[in-house]
Amino acid sequence: METIRRTKIVDIFRKPDLGAVVSIKGWVRTMRGNKFVKFIHMNDGSTINNIQVVADVETFGEEFFKRISTGACLHVVGLLVESQGQGQNCEIQAKTIEIYGEANPEEYPLQKQKNGPSLEFLREIAYLRPRTNTFGAIFRIRHHMSYAIHKYFNDNGFFYFHTPIVTGSDAEGAGSMFQVTTLDVNNPPRTKEGAIDYKEDFFGGQTNLTVSGQLEGELGAMALGGIYTFGPTFRAENSNTPRHLAEFWMIEPEVAFNDIHDNMDLAEDFMKYLISYALENCADDIAFLSEKYDAELIDRLKFVVENDFVRLTYTEGVDILEKSGQKFEFPVYWGADLQSEHERYLVEKHFKRPVILTDYPKEIKSFYMKQNEDGKTVRGMDVLFPKIGEIIGGSEREADYDKLMARVKELDMNVDSIWWYTEIRKFGTAPHSGFGLGFERLILFITGMANIRDVIPFPRTPNNAEF
Ligand code: ATP
Ligand code: MN
Repeated sequence: METIRRTKIVDIFRKPDLGAVVSIKGWVRTMRGNKFVKFIHMNDGSTINNIQVVADVETFGEEFFKRISTGACLHVVGLLVESQGQGQNCEIQAKTIEIYGEANPEEYPLQKQKNGPSLEFLREIAYLRPRTNTFGAIFRIRHHMSYAIHKYFNDNGFFYFHTPIVTGSDAEGAGSMFQVTTLDVNNPPRTKEGAIDYKEDFFGGQTNLTVSGQLEGELGAMALGGIYTFGPTFRAENSNTPRHLAEFWMIEPEVAFNDIHDNMDLAEDFMKYLISYALENCADDIAFLSEKYDAELIDRLKFVVENDFVRLTYTEGVDILEKSGQKFEFPVYWGADLQSEHERYLVEKHFKRPVILTDYPKEIKSFYMKQNEDGKTVRGMDVLFPKIGEIIGGSEREADYDKLMARVKELDMNVDSIWWYTEIRKFGTAPHSGFGLGFERLILFITGMANIRDVIPFPRTPNNAEF
């Protein structure tokens, strides 16, 4: 028989060419049947939906099917026909079945279990996670959202600006950075005074993995007008929470001439676009996840798209929290850094809508945020989402050289490693604003999953970087 080109299962369902001979390749999800006929459900990763292959036992011989079990990889050629059973519009009557790889049922960790293996168990076998329906759905959604992010910015005239992953800057909290070095850590070169001599290191100075592309992104915005970054960022903070990873992806638009209001408009429009995109382009996967994990998921996504985000100041937010009568684990008072329990109270209980909080006390925000007239607050903004809390953090930046330097002195910061960041304000400075969206927090929201370890293929968390 002549060889026919492989068809993806998603394309078969999209436009079934009934009566045609098709070739599919994929993994066995289940096989059942009797002495006369076997029903093999196969999935090739292109869609959440499995296709049913019907195979005559007589044609292949009983022995043959002993080699086929959940997890095995097959190449099936057969006739595409209308399905006899319910739930499927078409199925394949097998003519030939080639077994690419068996999966010994005694050893295969993903044996069919009643409710499927637990998410905790799957984290321990991350090398096989993508084979499950749940993770197939999540990782397809991850892909579509990455594409949607690039599409949104491209369609709106932003330029993708690549900021470095290895950086000499440690201005944003040195303690939480991962150091990059080629020095022999057991026997590093020393200066006369006995300190480690980083002049001998690969880059001639101490370097770290970036915690954010923002500072370099601002340089791009002050030349190209509107840019965005989309890359991995690293934080060595030892926070074992369901919302923090040590390695995560961040999207950071930065726009010259935008003030904080433009920044809020951009954040709201961007989030609504992404969620609409997911509802339109990931409907099957979202429906699957909603059914399995989170019955309110689709309503929650639609709700965010259809409603204006509430905008209020931090001061107003704290006032509401203080008067709420709600018992919180962490106390609220003006000046406190809000915890996710506070953020979620405002979003889920008080306003029942996404919230943008602005004008935070300068003490709890970064040195680069534009200072307000009151001398107490800065033009920062956090976007707070149901079930997540903070999903975006951003601000209008301090564009004035003298004010920025005064703040740097006030904080007793060493800005030697980012001299360029302050220096650019001497040459054609202008108002500008930007924000950072944590990609995995977005995926948490869109998938309805509860733990950030379950929305990235290979999560890096304290004590875990095996695979
Ligand atoms: P949080 O208060 O939740 O720890 P942050 O204020 O430290 O976050 P920013 O520095 O403002 O975070 O980073 C911008 C965005 O990046 C956050 O709004 C969040 O969506 C995401 N983010 C920050 N830290 C992490 C992390 N460790 N893992 C995953 N996403 C993160
Ligand atoms: Mn933040």
